[in-house]
Amino acid sequence: MADDLAPRPARDATAPTRRRRVAVVGAGPSGLFAAQALLGQEDVPVEVDVFDRLPTPFGLVRYGVAPDHQSIKSVAQALARVFDSPRLRFRGLVQFGEDVTREEFLAAYDAVIYAAGASEDTRMNVPGESLPGSRSAREFVAWYSGHPDATPQDLRGVTSAVAVGVGNVAADVARILTRDPAELERTDMPQSVLDVLAAHTVGDVWVVGRRGPHHASFTTKELRELCSLDGVQITVDAGAFEGIDDADLDRRTRANVDVLAEAAARVVPESRCRLHFLFWRRPVAIEGEDRVHGVVLERTALDDAGRVVGTGETSTLDAQLVLRAIGYRGVPLPGVPFDLERGVIPNREGRVTTEDGDVLPREYVVGWIKRGPLGVIGTNKSDAAETVRLLLDDLAAGGGTSEDRTLLDLDTHLADRGLHPTTYDDWRRIEAAEADRGSGRGRDRTKIEAWSELLDLVALGRPGGPPTPADREA
Ligand code: NAP
Repeated sequence: MADDLAPRPARDATAPTRRRRVAVVGAGPSGLFAAQALLGQEDVPVEVDVFDRLPTPFGLVRYGVAPDHQSIKSVAQALARVFDSPRLRFRGLVQFGEDVTREEFLAAYDAVIYAAGASEDTRMNVPGESLPGSRSAREFVAWYSGHPDATPQDLRGVTSAVAVGVGNVAADVARILTRDPAELERTDMPQSVLDVLAAHTVGDVWVVGRRGPHHASFTTKELRELCSLDGVQITVDAGAFEGIDDADLDRRTRANVDVLAEAAARVVPESRCRLHFLFWRRPVAIEGEDRVHGVVLERTALDDAGRVVGTGETSTLDAQLVLRAIGYRGVPLPGVPFDLERGVIPNREGRVTTEDGDVLPREYVVGWIKRGPLGVIGTNKSDAAETVRLLLDDLAAGGGTSEDRTLLDLDTHLADRGLHPTTYDDWRRIEAAEADRGSGRGRDRTKIEAWSELLDLVALGRPGGPPTPADREA
């Protein structure tokens, strides 16, 4: 952490008076918190352009926060206020590295903040992991959140599903599969998703942890919600609570253990489905021929060094759907240094460094691509503030591009190549269309998940209007 009490670098006497231009690559919560921090100060006058590869802003708030968690989604409303600033512009449909290179960003801006998140997932590396029916929770989340790149999910024939991992993403997917589908009507899920969930036949969901209940990374609020769904019988495998020493637990882990123990003791009459927590087990193989029909689990223990090891004792769980929820991973941005092992851009408190640790001028990083895929949405606020403070210190000390240099005009540069980024007005048009679609069914909003429809809505704001079917065929 940067030291708050450290003296601020003196403002360079020759420091520029023109507004400094900052690009934020990624319009998710970390990028928007960074924009908010930049615009919420007056020491260094700035203009901010926020880019995203999608036509819409809000990243994981729109496509990662579970649709039945509308209170967390209200963060989007708070974040949206940043767009009220005339010094902020949204530029969607811009793919970093393809549409604009790192060098072009650095030629167009005094500073660039990478806020690209963690768009890949960790793999289990067990046989059968690529069988149809075995996929990442990330893909499943993307589907029910209406992400335009998501693969439609087919739950026909699935009666038993396994979520591997005992963190909040596992809790999300387990909850979506066990919650009464009628309750999901209140969310903004796309209609196609609601239809699949309304018809699903999943009666058993298994949440599998490779360590004990006291090691699970659920936040207690999420676990409590998962364990109190109407009509869901909870089971926790016998022996899961053995050997837990209360003195070793902190507040969260103690509360988690209590929630699980209370839920397991509760009998739910005429339950609709069952949610089973299995601890001290890890998948060693996924079985099936043309699709998944089971998961082989091995019992685990901790060795003397506290590492998870297999005991050799295995059992097979029938399942037609396996969702690995064992962590996300950042992916490299073309041309930007990357720490492949940690899945992050190497940095010092947010200043990008080379792989050898040398600070690179004018490049910064925030969010999961800075610190790894941990923390709730609000964590990104302090994280972004740390980076932005250093960026402003650098700019105040004269660290942008030189005053007499003409910055590249990226809008013109892109237009010359036939590329027209989306704007905040385009997003407002998409938002209005979603509200319109929702109101027909008594909902606040129904998400539009098809690329073609999103692009048609964008095109409505362009000269000439949306493409005709003939345009599409051409
Ligand atoms: P997470 O909290 O790190 O949980 C990952 C889980 O996967 C852990 O239980 C971990 O077990 C397990 N795991 C890792 N590698 C494994 C392997 N090879 N085999 C079996 N299990 C393995 O990550 P997450 O659930 O993806 O969540 C990411 C972040 O987003 C978290 O900070 C989370 O709180 C946040 N989030 C928040 C919300 C919310 O606030 N509602 C919702 C979703 C996500 P070990 O502990 O043994 O490694």
